Amino acid sequence: MSRRVKYTENRPLANLKKLAIALSLTASTAIPALADGEVNIYSYRQPDLIQPLLDRFKAETGIATNVLFLDKGLVERIQAEGENSPADVILTVDISRLTEAKDAGITQPIKSAIIDTDIPAQYRDPDGAWVGLTTRGRVVYASKDRVAQNDITYEELADPKWKGKICTRDGQHSYNIGLFASMIAHHGEAETEKWLTGLKNNLARKPDGGDRDQAKAIFAGECDLALGNSYYVGLMLTNEKEPEQKEWANSIKVLFPNANDRGTHVNVSGVAMAKYAPNKENAQKLIDFLASGEAQEIYAEQVYEYPVMPGKEPSDVVKSFGTIKPDTLPLADIAANRKKASELVDKVGFNDGPTN
Ligand code: FE
Repeated sequence: MSRRVKYTENRPLANLKKLAIALSLTASTAIPALADGEVNIYSYRQPDLIQPLLDRFKAETGIATNVLFLDKGLVERIQAEGENSPADVILTVDISRLTEAKDAGITQPIKSAIIDTDIPAQYRDPDGAWVGLTTRGRVVYASKDRVAQNDITYEELADPKWKGKICTRDGQHSYNIGLFASMIAHHGEAETEKWLTGLKNNLARKPDGGDRDQAKAIFAGECDLALGNSYYVGLMLTNEKEPEQKEWANSIKVLFPNANDRGTHVNVSGVAMAKYAPNKENAQKLIDFLASGEAQEIYAEQVYEYPVMPGKEPSDVVKSFGTIKPDTLPLADIAANRKKASELVDKVGFNDGPTN
């Protein structure tokens, strides 16, 4: 009896507590900037590509995001700003740029049990300086009309049977350097030099243009095979502004090199925390959010890439290319061979085009 009375007496207080919790929840979503602060992102990625993610982050946490988009000089800018830099989070693509940020001393280690569990180690810096969010394959674009085979290896691109048939962009571009660095990691420098010489002598023309220009060259009949990143095929296939790109993309099929052995070379888009992040706690929340499976699927869909988290799906357009089996070589090992790769490109005169 006494317990029952006590319970009845306490009910108004319990209800008040519930009301207070409800009010504070409402307040945090209604005026997020005041209640929860903000986080500043320095980004090499186009703002429209990341906005859907940032909208979701704000809806879930109440934290506002400010994006500074840069197309060059991001590292230099943060260095120049020094301890007063407003940068909290750095968003970029390619292991070369993530490594550049680490080596420039503008990052601090990301410490997150969630990330350590969810993101495979091959896509994270061993010291925590950066974390990969999505991957892109360095695939082979092959003419649907003129190439019968549906399997290929990177090694095979040096076979004389492809003489005069291959197109690619500048050998010193970070996308090619990443691939060549992975060849050094797998085969050593001497064998990679031979391979690179063979590839150079199979080129149809001097390396030039971007990856999409190589698809255009296949469409035009100038070459049968090209090296290109996987997401450009998605971007071309869906390009309403320049519909001629759809024709280029429709003239090619995507071959995933080394699908039957070590897998296809992939690079990442990734995130780092700025060394002097003024909103460090919010930066960590944003990085944990970006690394979550939910965010990776939204991000991958926007940019036609692959989520790094196992089991998460790319967009339907990307799925239509076939299934990628990524090379399991840690990206940090690729980064370590970038300088040697760049030296080899010069040594074999790759950018001079075919000489034999
Ligand atoms: Fe690109």
